[in-house]
Amino acid sequence: MAIDFSLTDEQELLVDSVKEFCERNLDEQKINDMYANYGMSDELIKEYLDAGFGLMGIPEEQGGVPCDRVTLGILTEEFAHHAGCVTPFLNNTLAMRDMLDFGSPEQVEFCMSHYMETGKPIFSLGFSEPGAGSDNASMSSVTVKQPDGTYLLNGQKTWVTAGETLPYVLVVAKDEDPSPKNRTMSMWLVPKDTEGLTTAPLHKIGQQIMPFCEMYFDDVKLTEDMRVGEPGRGFFNLMKNFEMERCLIIAQSVGLAQAAMDDAAAYASERETFGKPIGDYQLIQLKLVEMETAIQNTRNMLYHTLWKMDNDESVRIDSALLKRYGAMNCEKVASEAMQIYAGLGFTTETRLGRLWKDLRGNEIAGGTDEIMVYIAGRQLVKQYKRN
Ligand SMILES: Cc1cc2nc3c(=O)[nH]c(=O)nc-3n(C[C@H](O)[C@H](O)[C@H](O)COP(=O)(O)OP(=O)(O)OC[C@H]3O[C@@H](n4cnc5c(N)ncnc54)[C@H](O)[C@@H]3O)c2cc1C
Repeated sequence: MAIDFSLTDEQELLVDSVKEFCERNLDEQKINDMYANYGMSDELIKEYLDAGFGLMGIPEEQGGVPCDRVTLGILTEEFAHHAGCVTPFLNNTLAMRDMLDFGSPEQVEFCMSHYMETGKPIFSLGFSEPGAGSDNASMSSVTVKQPDGTYLLNGQKTWVTAGETLPYVLVVAKDEDPSPKNRTMSMWLVPKDTEGLTTAPLHKIGQQIMPFCEMYFDDVKLTEDMRVGEPGRGFFNLMKNFEMERCLIIAQSVGLAQAAMDDAAAYASERETFGKPIGDYQLIQLKLVEMETAIQNTRNMLYHTLWKMDNDESVRIDSALLKRYGAMNCEKVASEAMQIYAGLGFTTETRLGRLWKDLRGNEIAGGTDEIMVYIAGRQLVKQYKRN
């Protein structure tokens, strides 16, 4: 079997153009303003689409530029690296993926036309509930069919990214019976201005460029044409795209960790104590060695997992191992980078505190570190069982 780690000419070009886009459109002042104002400007989101990045991974018949998953990983990593912050682009791509996979032709067209106009998906994703995050199957939001053929939705969703700003929400709710034993759920595309639907802000400690919120559903009236995908398949659909989501979250984490490494390694040769650069001390070198090892390991696991997906191989174990290892270790890279900057690192004068908090969030979003053990662990026991 041939192993080729080199980038194609197109991928090289992509890396260069992402770097150029970030240099042209983003600087620390702009990024900090976007975090302070809880959102990226509409113009920048549209610019990302117009530059072609937002079209990547979308089928040609929808006006997109198809590409493999490895290339989507490169786009996500490079963007996080050169921007030095999280961006809504990753979530936007993933949301459009859900709609393309499960929506009816009319729903796809409706959502795609909004996306092509604005660069934003028309909807946020609401699946977590205060009483059911990791354990999604225990959700209690429910739709009950009414005699006139409509449905009433009741329940609460939480941590809904962009839930307050996007005009629709794609909600997952149980069909008819809210009890834990009922596993049949459906997805519904609900306009936010529907009577009975309200939101309340939640305040994040990091990743504020993409705020999340609470969402309450009190006798929200739904019609059959708002259902997305097959009735009762909502849970299955929800799980289907998780593996790709986890890979891209880690692609973002590697990019952010690389940004922290760039800063810390450069600072180590500039900052002097006791008459020499701190980079001359082995304790600092050890930190840099461990940081670089974590980045390289995560990157290798990431692209191997994406490559397997591109080759239709199962990544059930790989994606969980990657999500856990990558999220934990990339967060550690930023933490160690702060340690190298010491007092300065603990101020807002550098971007390290922001990188560290953003990376910390990726240990929870898309499935916690512990849940990854739960997923991969059970599979590993099965895989290594002697006959
Ligand atoms: C930045 C960010 C963005 C998010 N965006 C969205 C969004 O857009 N839409 C949305 O619906 N949700 C979103 N979420 C919510 C996210 O999916 C949940 O927070 C996550 O799934 C964990 O659920 P929980 O917070 O209820 O934790 P819980 O499930 O209550 O877990 C609590 C603790 O127990 C551990 N634990 C739970 N079960 C087990 C087990 N079986 N074995 C061992 N340990 C266990 C967990 O790892 C955790 O440490 C987002 C979260 C974050 C941080």
